[in-house]
Amino acid sequence: MRALSYARVADVDEAIALVAGHPDGAFLAGGTTAVDLARLGVLRPGLLVDVNDAAPDEVVELQGGGLRIGSMARMSDVARSPAVVARFPVVSQALLAGASAQLRNMASMGGNLCQAVRCGYFRDVASACNKRDPGSGCAAMDGVNRTHAILGVSDTCIATHPSDLAVALVALDAVLHTRRPGGGRTIGIDDFFLLPGQTPQSEHRLDRGELITAIELPAAGVARRSVYLKLRDRQSYEFALASVAAAIRVTDGIVSEVRLALGGVGTKPWRARRAEASLLGQAAGEASFAEAARQELAQASPRPQNAFKVELAQRAIVRALQTLTSGDAQ
Ligand code: SF4
Repeated sequence: MRALSYARVADVDEAIALVAGHPDGAFLAGGTTAVDLARLGVLRPGLLVDVNDAAPDEVVELQGGGLRIGSMARMSDVARSPAVVARFPVVSQALLAGASAQLRNMASMGGNLCQAVRCGYFRDVASACNKRDPGSGCAAMDGVNRTHAILGVSDTCIATHPSDLAVALVALDAVLHTRRPGGGRTIGIDDFFLLPGQTPQSEHRLDRGELITAIELPAAGVARRSVYLKLRDRQSYEFALASVAAAIRVTDGIVSEVRLALGGVGTKPWRARRAEASLLGQAAGEASFAEAARQELAQASPRPQNAFKVELAQRAIVRALQTLTSGDAQ
């Protein structure tokens, strides 16, 4: 039995001061991950500070066509937001592809980005896991790793980043707004997520007591024609084996703008910059799509059990781009 304190506050700065001032303080949003992990003994918070009444939850229009989404907005509300559906359909689709309807009604946008990996060994406190217990080893390396990552891996951790939403946001160059003791800052989302390297216990750039307050989607005309394709073992309540967030603009048959990010294959939401560079200026079509996918996955480091993801991710990229450029999608 461990003592656990709970506080619900209505002010962001008060919440930040409480978490920063407690050696084992943590924020609590929707609770769909943190509560599970605390029950398993993976997380051991001494104080949970509930920020549901503190941080914003609205979708606000920005000048020029961007959106600012409060970090406490529920996934289901943002997925249905008319502005999100019209201007950033890839975000709406990624949200609807994540978790179950019940979880989407509970889970917050900010919490989604901070969710822990779903590696089974991370959740089993009897297993070696460098992310949970730095220096203890990684049971997944030679264990059951069919769903693990093939991009951005290190010799300390090969866990896949679990968020669908984050993949769409990385493709769109979203910006996170945070508050922390002494002020606030903005962080580009691709910089927010960290590769495991030799410090797999650090998954993102948030400091102690730092809270995401909003997610900004910069205006991007290309995003109006965007798609999220998620391939998984079953059609609901399952994590991606490979997923693609894609947006493309084709002018006179030539790719003039493209955004690509991958999920289910990387230790962080994976911006496919090699594929993007390969596509720009090329004739849009299966040949250029396949070559771009090949170049992106050439850097993969699979294990025997998850080597199938190299081919699966390439096919997913091609299919997502074909979906956007075929028929009346032009
Ligand atoms: Fe832990 Fe990462 Fe290894 Fe999973 S892959 S056991 S999270 S170190």
